[in-house]
Amino acid sequence: MSQVVVLGAGISGHTAAAHLKRMLGKKHNVVVISPSEYYQWIPSNIWVGIGKMKEDQVRFKLRKVYKRWGIEYHQAKAVSIHPDGSMENEKPFVKSVYTEPEKRGEEITIEYDYLVNATGPKLNFNGTEGLTQGRNTQSVCTTSHAVEAWENLQKIFEKAKNCEKQQILIGTGHSTATCQGAAFEYALNVAFEARERKIEDKIEITWITNEYELGDFGMNGAFVKRNGYVIPIKEFAESVLVEYGIGWIKRAGVYKVEPGKVYYEQLNGSKHVKEFDFAMLIPSFTGAGIRAIGKNGEDIQDKLFLPNGFMRVDADYSPKEFEEY
Ligand SMILES: Cc1cc2nc3c(=O)[nH]c(=O)nc-3n(C[C@H](O)[C@H](O)[C@H](O)COP(=O)(O)OP(=O)(O)OC[C@H]3O[C@@H](n4cnc5c(N)ncnc54)[C@H](O)[C@@H]3O)c2cc1C
Repeated sequence: MSQVVVLGAGISGHTAAAHLKRMLGKKHNVVVISPSEYYQWIPSNIWVGIGKMKEDQVRFKLRKVYKRWGIEYHQAKAVSIHPDGSMENEKPFVKSVYTEPEKRGEEITIEYDYLVNATGPKLNFNGTEGLTQGRNTQSVCTTSHAVEAWENLQKIFEKAKNCEKQQILIGTGHSTATCQGAAFEYALNVAFEARERKIEDKIEITWITNEYELGDFGMNGAFVKRNGYVIPIKEFAESVLVEYGIGWIKRAGVYKVEPGKVYYEQLNGSKHVKEFDFAMLIPSFTGAGIRAIGKNGEDIQDKLFLPNGFMRVDADYSPKEFEEY
């Protein structure tokens, strides 16, 4: 019997664990380690952030599901990977710390034959001075953030209804932030909701992005087929923003946020300030911060992880035999 340990129960970890169990059956053990008791469908947070979906519509508890599927589950946070084992332990293992209330803080060591690291991106709010979720700015990167964003957006809508002009800023909160597509969708959702409430003339929405051209979305653009025409996504994105009455600032790296003010530098070196009443800015991402430790307890961080904390991968997604990896 082999043991496969999956770190993280997000979109990739949960999918990997589900398929591994389905394919490996009872002959092998699949273990999931993840700090939250929930799986959350992150893409739907753009709906939670405008009040169209509730928190519990985009998440479910993992424990029951994993029990039914025969997957061993630990509500814990992995803190270190020991791929060569240790002096006391021949086999590779992962050290984790429980996050569930009954065992909170207790350490657990789990051996593995195969390890899947699916811990996703850590939201690096500290990467931009003043980019503080819930205080200066909002995010829709997690369901609880999106709930909070919606609470604050409603206050903006109320003010606009009372004829107070409101400025909304949506986009990327760092020159290296990604996930522009999610923020773009959220900008359109907010504009749509303002129109539904007939307050669009009181709300000025601006899309601020680090993209070189609109519609890059971190994937070097694309082409869109619409009404029989194939158009570059740059034109598509620009025309959609115009249609929704949204202005834009591109090639902008946000480097500082203060209450109601965002400071950004554009690619040509010019520096600017933009005021806002409500801002939803995506932070930069780092890895989950798991340590990599060698057999003698030495630090082997550089072997497993990049300086930004993400795991080293070959970034070649073509199918291969396991031995070829
Ligand atoms: C609002 C929004 C909308 C989006 N829409 C789309 C879309 O339409 N299409 C698209 O392709 N992508 C979209 N994305 C991006 C997509 O959500 C991410 O690419 C995806 O969630 C990444 O999956 P993941 O499993 O790698 O990470 P995550 O889904 O973030 O999961 C990471 C998991 O690891 C766990 N974890 C963290 N640290 C540890 C640790 N130390 N030990 C163990 N577990 C840990 C977390 O709790 C979580 O369960 C969107 C993102 C956002 C924010």
